[in-house]
Amino acid sequence: MSQSPSLPDRPTLELDQEMSESERLEALREHYLEVAGVHDQLSGQLEAARERQAELRSEVEDLQAENEALKTSSLYLATVEELTDDQVLLKQHGNNQEVLTDVSPRLHDRLEADDRVAINDSFAIQTVLDTETDARAQAMEISEKPDVTYGEIGGLDDQIREVREAVEDPLTDPGKFETVGIEPPTGVLLHGPPGTGKTMLAKAVAQQTDATFIKMAGSELVQKFIGEGARLVRDLFELAAEREPAIIFIDEIDAIAAKRTESKTSGDAEVQRTMMQLLSEMDGFERRGEISIIAATNRFDMLDRAILRPGRFDRLIEVPQPDATGRERILEIHTGRMNLADDVDLAAIAGDTDGFSGAELESLATEAGMFAIREGRTEIRDGDFRDAHEKVSTDDAPGKPIAFY
Ligand code: ATP
Repeated sequence: MSQSPSLPDRPTLELDQEMSESERLEALREHYLEVAGVHDQLSGQLEAARERQAELRSEVEDLQAENEALKTSSLYLATVEELTDDQVLLKQHGNNQEVLTDVSPRLHDRLEADDRVAINDSFAIQTVLDTETDARAQAMEISEKPDVTYGEIGGLDDQIREVREAVEDPLTDPGKFETVGIEPPTGVLLHGPPGTGKTMLAKAVAQQTDATFIKMAGSELVQKFIGEGARLVRDLFELAAEREPAIIFIDEIDAIAAKRTESKTSGDAEVQRTMMQLLSEMDGFERRGEISIIAATNRFDMLDRAILRPGRFDRLIEVPQPDATGRERILEIHTGRMNLADDVDLAAIAGDTDGFSGAELESLATEAGMFAIREGRTEIRDGDFRDAHEKVSTDDAPGKPIAFY
């Protein structure tokens, strides 16, 4: 533990009755200089303490995130082999271990042979997966034509240009790269605070290139079913190959590609396996210009650098919190279809919403609309935005630094 710095002594002033006027003045001047010196010293210590406080706060946030991740217990997958009168014979996926486990009569009535179930460490059945909820369908969102266009993304002109160069050009004009004699980037990593438009960027590029958009969330992969993560990654690339041209979007990539930790829990091993599968898919992935991989994270600092090597996520694009001009554009986009009164000044609202993300600006506009509706009006006034600002700020405290970035 670091030692607290010792405080300087408090300067004292001793004035003697016998002193002449000029001696008193001199004593007072010296005292003043001493006090000023102590003040400077204390200010320096305060500054150092604040810096240390900020460091410790970010350490606490990292530990909290790690703690949360450790608390989420994973489930294993199994298939029901046979049902006896009050027991069930299960075969666990991955290791094919067979176990006989007790079930409640209520659950027993719902089960049939061949059902897929999720079980805990003691082999107790936690959930019965219905036939529709196959893990593949759960973890992936597939869209033939997402409905987001570049015009609906505010304040990210540079990022749009970079994404177009890195993803759109290789899909639409692969010849350009061949002629110049360079390899197009394999994977693009979008990083920045939550709600700033990373998913929108990936969807817009799929929209523009008529590519199938396949989204998978990293957290879904590792928190749900042990033994399924690596298989899902394999499925993801297979599916993309079936649906070419396609854009694979892996959100929250930090969940599967965080820096290696010392702990050796089964959850960690699972994360490692999932990440190794992703790396091997990317390494063995022959770039034919028909499949692009985009990943996103709010926790760039946590990423294992192995995924950033050439041939993997070798194009990094930062998607920052919008500045005032960006916020004004985002507000224009989200109020485009709203009936605004003349006193609404979007530039002024943009000026007052420092620290708001695109998602928070969207909820500000929606809340302002709600205030107008509550008062029976169809027109949204400046006052509605002010009330909304207050509500959104107290509800979610936007504008405060985002905890994990
Ligand atoms: P997360 O990291 O939390 O997944 P994200 O960066 O992927 O967030 P999006 O899902 O793209 O954020 O944005 C969420 C919503 O916020 C969007 O559907 C959109 O309505 C709004 N939004 C965010 N950024 C912008 C932006 N730059 N322009 C317009 N709307 C935005």
